[in-house]
Amino acid sequence: MKKGIHPEVHDCTVTCACGETFNVQSTKSEINVEVCSKCHPFYTGKQNRASRAGRVDKFNKKYGFESK
Ligand SMILES: [Zn+2]
Repeated sequence: MKKGIHPEVHDCTVTCACGETFNVQSTKSEINVEVCSKCHPFYTGKQNRASRAGRVDKFNKKYGFESK
């Protein structure tokens, strides 16, 4: 690899809103995600919206709406 043009890559901890964490290689040291393969309905086969801190929930909380 050519020196001086590549960003520094190190171990990165990815934290999901469901509590799941895993490590990847990234230029960032920490990443927060709203959904991962452990809690996405496509992989779990069921809906569990309540356990996710999604954009809709944040919007509802911000403007005082009841989130279902
Ligand atoms: Zn998750």
